[in-house]
Amino acid sequence: MTLFTTDALEGRCLPLFINNEFVPSQGQSFPSYDPATGAEWSSMPDATADEVDRAVRAARGAMTSAAWRDMSQTDRGSLMYRLADLISQNVDRLSRLEVRDNGKLLKEMTALTHAVAASMRYFAGMADKIEGTTIPVNKPDMLNFTLREPVGVIAAIVPWNSPLLLLNRAFSPAIAAGNAMVVKPSEHSAASILAFAELVAEAGFPPGVFNVVTGGGQTVGDALVRHPEVDKIDFTGGPETGRVIAASAAQNLTPAILELGGKSPNIICADADLDRAVTGVVSGIFAAGGQTCVAGSRCLVHDSIYDEVAERLVARAAEIRIGAPTEADTQLGPLALWSQVEKVGRFVEGAKTAGAKLLAGGGRAEQMGAGWYVQPTIFGDVTNEMDIARNEIFGPVLGLIRYSDDEDMIAKANDTRYGLASGLWTNDMERAMRFMRRINAGMVWINTYRSPSVMAPSGGYKDSGYGKHNGFAAINEFTRIKTVVIDY
Ligand code: NAD
Repeated sequence: MTLFTTDALEGRCLPLFINNEFVPSQGQSFPSYDPATGAEWSSMPDATADEVDRAVRAARGAMTSAAWRDMSQTDRGSLMYRLADLISQNVDRLSRLEVRDNGKLLKEMTALTHAVAASMRYFAGMADKIEGTTIPVNKPDMLNFTLREPVGVIAAIVPWNSPLLLLNRAFSPAIAAGNAMVVKPSEHSAASILAFAELVAEAGFPPGVFNVVTGGGQTVGDALVRHPEVDKIDFTGGPETGRVIAASAAQNLTPAILELGGKSPNIICADADLDRAVTGVVSGIFAAGGQTCVAGSRCLVHDSIYDEVAERLVARAAEIRIGAPTEADTQLGPLALWSQVEKVGRFVEGAKTAGAKLLAGGGRAEQMGAGWYVQPTIFGDVTNEMDIARNEIFGPVLGLIRYSDDEDMIAKANDTRYGLASGLWTNDMERAMRFMRRINAGMVWINTYRSPSVMAPSGGYKDSGYGKHNGFAAINEFTRIKTVVIDY
């Protein structure tokens, strides 16, 4: 019987996963909470420095073992296909664990877990298509070519908002390329990642290829990123933590991918199809309670349609059904953390003081009792100078900003330290093309929003980080190029 169901884990402490074995930690444990009720449901350990070291050495051991190092690329892909099938067979169990930890909607989580299996299959198919190149060096007796090799031990640091999806975003390309991994999940949501680890062992991956150490960022995370045997860091989280990690990584010259936060503009032009645009803006900010890195939290609206758009958005916000994450008709569940509820409250008060106009929401959804629910909130008359427009809230809070013409629009859209995603709603394709070239963001969505694909590279500009996930770009991140010259 597996330990990794919501029932079996109730009141229990999570183990660590090292060398394909679950081991209890010697570290202090701390509680995990169910955001739907605010009640404690399980706990996890703060792994000790010695346990982090054991996990990294296990990964290093895999990298030097014949079982993993010499496994054919096709066999690596086959193991990944097997793991993807196990994930598909366990979608409900994995999804419910994550819902319990971070309050995501079960229907959304179910779709995401299916997406995890699908993207693993995408990278499994790539495992035996990773190849080097032959380079003409203008010398007839010389052969010059490149090998694409795994980087080595990857340390993955994952946030709480989508643990399985974000873990797999690193796991699948890294493992397809032949690396080994140690992951530190968020201190708020680790259960689904340990359930994933159990399936890794069941699929038949050699010991040490995948390891999990749980605990806090400044303790376990810090020990992991500073470990001299880590060859690359894959970090997803906030920009403040990203800066700390980049500084820690610099000590050992460890390269890093940093996937950080955003304050993405979702822009409605005067010529847009307003029905589509309003739907796109509503889902762009309120899906997952705004707890997505690409949340379209700044809605720029052309002056001429501002009042109509504001009215429509407010009407749509009023229709959003708030409820328990496991109920099929719920559209907005709880926030994942109590600290997020408090943070939203601080931004709401700050926006009011700064002169923004509260158009919808602004408080807790009291009808949900002790759970961590917040109303969908919309502010009008927001300016780019306000805190609500400058800083990531990571909650269901939308700010409406007026613009007068395209120059004003692009200037306001780019006036942010972030550069993750952007959306533009227009029927004028020339305008769309100009926008696409001038926006400083890693992802541009025209007449759509939040449309990721495992096949398309994703990643940010500016303070939203560096490095790419998804697509072949991710394989590049997890391989090194070795140049070989043969004089024959
Ligand atoms: P966070 O930065 O607080 O924590 C992220 C992870 O880093 C956690 O596992 C944490 O324990 C760990 N950590 C903290 N301090 C550390 C340290 N000194 N050394 C090593 N690890 C440390 O972020 P969060 O609150 O968990 O997540 C929300 C943030 O993540 C938001 O800013 C959001 O935009 C961002 N995010 C980005 C993407 C993306 O793809 N760009 C995706 C999801 C979330």
